[in-house]
Amino acid sequence: MPHHPEIPIGRFAPSPTGELHFGSLVAALASWLSVKHAGGRWLLRIEDIDPPRQVAGSATSILAALATHGFSADGAVLYQSQRGGAYAAALQRLRDEGHAFPCWCSRTDLEASGVLHRDGHCVSPAIAGREPAWRLHAPDLDIEFEDLLQGPQHQNVRTAVGDFVLRRADGLWNYQLACVVDDAFQGITEVVRGYDLMESTPRQILLQQLLDLSTPAYAHIPLAIDANGCKLSKSHAAPVLDMRSPLANLARALGFLGQPVPDAPTAAGMLRRAAGRFDPSPLRGIANSEPAAKPMPTDPASR
Ligand code: GLU
Repeated sequence: MPHHPEIPIGRFAPSPTGELHFGSLVAALASWLSVKHAGGRWLLRIEDIDPPRQVAGSATSILAALATHGFSADGAVLYQSQRGGAYAAALQRLRDEGHAFPCWCSRTDLEASGVLHRDGHCVSPAIAGREPAWRLHAPDLDIEFEDLLQGPQHQNVRTAVGDFVLRRADGLWNYQLACVVDDAFQGITEVVRGYDLMESTPRQILLQQLLDLSTPAYAHIPLAIDANGCKLSKSHAAPVLDMRSPLANLARALGFLGQPVPDAPTAAGMLRRAAGRFDPSPLRGIANSEPAAKPMPTDPASR
């Protein structure tokens, strides 16, 4: 059930896989503008559950870069690496209620069935002494939701992604489960994030329903892409933000989001003024334009 609290709570949840780049600044800014415009609270979460993809020191440098750009969280930063107990409890509940099953299928087994696992149970023999992965038994059900910016969405999780992994055989937690457990734990009422995560939202809503958690409002914003059409976080060429010019960086990010750029002597002042006049209408309807992404504006100083 969507839930309409008096004080909205939003969040920015970066993965510490590198420095803050323009695309993540845009995501942080959009989540901030939306919730602060409504007088709400903004929280931070570091999604450090995938050590092989992480870059040492990047959580600290992302937090420092956010502070340089005037962002301050209205509460302690939550680190997903500290939250294994909560994820294990959620998995236990899904197991107890028959929604999760252990799986010893290898990648080769899955390739034979077109990669997606849709059987609702493991089709390989259990391997004694080897930890299984745990998968969600995906129901054959359309998940529908209304994206605040992109309108009505629906996905049949079983058809689209199948029985997705909740915990890998090597013990690493899946993003979808961790995200849902932590959005609920932090009391998040609105999730504003990049359009590439739209395809995750139905899985997250399904998990919320199975775990009796409330569903926040969702809004997916255009992605910043580089000149080759790559998402900036995936792009090797993603330029690092110049930490000496936070006001210019914020001005470019506001421009990307279609917002006017207020005059302000400090980054925090610019954020405050921009939140006061935030208008989401330039961000609507991108779902119908292909790709749902926009090139990053070039830095006038580097032309
Ligand atoms: N950690 C994810 C990322 O950096 C974002 C997750 C989310 O906003 O739900 O892409």
